[in-house]
Amino acid sequence: MGADLTAVLVTEEQIRGRLAELAGRIEADYAGRDVLLVGVLRGAVMVMADLARSVDRHLEMDWMAISSYGSGTKSSGVVRILKDLDTDISGRHVLVVEDIIDTGLTLSWLVRNLTSRGPASVEICTLLRKPQAWRMAVEVRYVGFEIPDEFVVGYGLDYAERYRNLRCVATLAPHVYS
Ligand code: IMP
Repeated sequence: MGADLTAVLVTEEQIRGRLAELAGRIEADYAGRDVLLVGVLRGAVMVMADLARSVDRHLEMDWMAISSYGSGTKSSGVVRILKDLDTDISGRHVLVVEDIIDTGLTLSWLVRNLTSRGPASVEICTLLRKPQAWRMAVEVRYVGFEIPDEFVVGYGLDYAERYRNLRCVATLAPHVYS
């Protein structure tokens, strides 16, 4: 896969270190409260697995699969639930675990949807955030890395369903798209 990549933006070691820091903050912030991590399939699988194992306290995990309609590599904010939560989140402290926030359209829809179910709180943790996300009025409590406005793959993120199993986050070489 290395020949398909132009640059490694975030290394495996950087991801591990940053997730450990975020896990420490989550432990402190949720002290005395039960937290339910909600992973957004499929991209957040790696973040969820590594973040959850870095948190040294009880937690629960559940998953949602949503599809965001859009053209090419951009989302539109029109979202459909492909797999809903199995957990009733009313009265629960929910922490959404995301791989990346680009425009933030998908996430703002998700937060509205989850909030309508009456949780005690809804917070967001994302490994990566692109510059455009600032335009959306969604407060993101835990951010791993701010990255430039480039299409990235790896550590759960795909291009045409490939590269999810890369250990780092990287940009793709032009020949992959053509
Ligand atoms: P948003 O609604 O624009 O924030 O898009 C969020 C979703 O688009 C993410 O959950 C990803 O599935 C996808 N996405 C956005 N940027 C990238 C990228 O650079 N690589 C891979 N997927 C991306």
